[in-house]
Amino acid sequence: MFREMVLGLGNNRAVSSVVKRYGMQMGAARFVAGDSLTSAIQVTRDLNRRGILVTLDHLGEAVREERAATQARDSYLAMLDQIASTQVKANVSLKLTMMGLAVSEELARQNLIVIAQKAQEAKSFVRIDMEDSSVTSVTVALFQEIWRQYPAHLGLVLQSYLYRSQDDLKQLSDPPKNFRIVKGAYQEPVSVAFPSKTDVDDNYVELVKQSLDLGNYTAIATHDEAIIGRVLKVIHHLDVPRDQFEFQMLYGVKLPVLEQLAREGYTARVYVPFGQDWYAYYVRRIAERPANLLFFARALINR
Ligand SMILES: Cc1cc2nc3c(=O)[nH]c(=O)nc-3n(C[C@H](O)[C@H](O)[C@H](O)COP(=O)(O)OP(=O)(O)OC[C@H]3O[C@@H](n4cnc5c(N)ncnc54)[C@H](O)[C@@H]3O)c2cc1C
Repeated sequence: MFREMVLGLGNNRAVSSVVKRYGMQMGAARFVAGDSLTSAIQVTRDLNRRGILVTLDHLGEAVREERAATQARDSYLAMLDQIASTQVKANVSLKLTMMGLAVSEELARQNLIVIAQKAQEAKSFVRIDMEDSSVTSVTVALFQEIWRQYPAHLGLVLQSYLYRSQDDLKQLSDPPKNFRIVKGAYQEPVSVAFPSKTDVDDNYVELVKQSLDLGNYTAIATHDEAIIGRVLKVIHHLDVPRDQFEFQMLYGVKLPVLEQLAREGYTARVYVPFGQDWYAYYVRRIAERPANLLFFARALINR
């Protein structure tokens, strides 16, 4: 309910103009590693020093012009170059709507191929984030198609709030691939997504179990400590080797928990977004936790 309300309000013009104006000073900076690649690489170095890997995300989505999509593609090529030249331990995550999916599927396909090719040359890895359900089918299809050319360099995200994700996982896992499992961050109708948290959580654990069982490399991306406990039980029960999975969290959320997992010898990675186009990302982070909205509101009133 709270989540739907915040995600709905996020589309309101008056709300967005206030948040865009004051958001960075009032909370967004906690979730965003600065507005440049240089600042994101600095954050990456600090995290690497703590034994934590990174996936870098240049913020941006819903691009509607070819030129902006081409610029976005080039920014990812520059990120892969910087990762290689600075030798930080990081890969990249991207959104197909930033690569021009709303302009044409062909534009997003061509941009993704160029980035995957670069990742292959740089011995790196590209994760396609999953966006709202209007683009799930095309995202799954493009991933499946381009994965064939770059099997070691391309991965996908599946969301446990979607009814379809178990079917997608089964259909995509022959041969095994690399998936990040998340709960899902967008506003979705009950016709496509579980409305209840218990169902989303149970489906999350089930998806991780099935993904590991099917031989996929599985990124367990959640801050939910109860879920992490349940997943660790599954991992021990199935005797899953440690090089078949990793834990992931978002920059600014529960770093001590991730550091503890790293100390216990598990692979741990932080999703580090950077850039100026932080609004939609920040609204999703507020929607995940009422305290984030209270923090923003209090800071706004006290300015
Ligand atoms: C690495 C990574 C990549 C992601 N990629 C995608 C993607 O491609 N597509 C997509 O739809 N979603 C993505 N997400 C977001 C995800 O879908 C959830 O919205 C988000 O992770 C919150 O769910 P949770 O699993 O942490 O569980 P929740 O039940 O939402 O949270 C569990 C606990 O974690 C803490 N917490 C969670 N979120 C926040 C927050 N914003 N601020 C402060 N504390 C918080 C709170 O203590 C909360 O009680 C990603 C998440 C991660 C960690």
